[in-house]
Amino acid sequence: MAGSTPLVGVLALQGAFREHMQALERLGAEAIEVRAPAELAGLDGLMLPGGESTAMDLLLDSSGLRAPIAERIAAGLPVFGTCAGLILLANELEDGTVEQRTLKVLDVTVLRNGYGRQVASFETSVVLAGDDMPMVGVFIRAPRITRIGAGVEVLASVGDEPVAVRNGSIMAATFHPELAHDDRLHARFLERVTTHS
Ligand code: GLN
Repeated sequence: MAGSTPLVGVLALQGAFREHMQALERLGAEAIEVRAPAELAGLDGLMLPGGESTAMDLLLDSSGLRAPIAERIAAGLPVFGTCAGLILLANELEDGTVEQRTLKVLDVTVLRNGYGRQVASFETSVVLAGDDMPMVGVFIRAPRITRIGAGVEVLASVGDEPVAVRNGSIMAATFHPELAHDDRLHARFLERVTTHS
C-alpha cells in the first residue's frame, strides 16, 4: 500500500526463513511467514529462502502454493530468491533431479551444488554493482549461475561470475545475504517492493 509499511511474505515451508524476516524488519518492512495460499493475500513482495530446493519443490505442491505463487509473480509481485530460492525461480537447471520442477520465471541456467558437494560452505567477498564496498557472501552448498538471459542484470559478482541477478521485479542470489548481517541486497529488493506497492 502506498505510503504504508510494505508487507513482505517469506516462504516458510522449509529452510532459512527467520533470518530473512529479521533483515526485512530491520529495514522497516513487515514480514510474515507464508505456508498456505491464503497468506499470499495483500503481500507487496515475497522472499524465497535457501534450504533444499528438491524438498521445497515437493512442499510447493502439498501446500497448494505453486500455482498461486506463479500467478502472483506473473502479475508483477516483486520476488527475491536466495540459494534454493534462486533454483525455484530459474528457467533451467543443469542437474535438477528428474522430477524437480521450477517456476521458470527468471531466464538463467543454474547448476545446483555448483562448487561440488564436498564444499559444504564458504565465505568470500562479493562485489555489488554500483557500490564501492564489497559484502561478505556466505555460500552454503550454493548453486552457480552458468548462463544469464538477455535482459538479466548482474547485481553482484565474485570475479567475473554473477552471484546476484535481477530481471525487472524478480531478483535472486546464489548465496545467503541474510546470514552476513549486511542488508544491502534486501534493501535493493525493498526498493522494488515499495515502487510496486
Ligand atoms: N544445494 C541446495 C539445493 O539444491 C541449495 C542450498 C541452499 O539453499 N543453501 O537446494
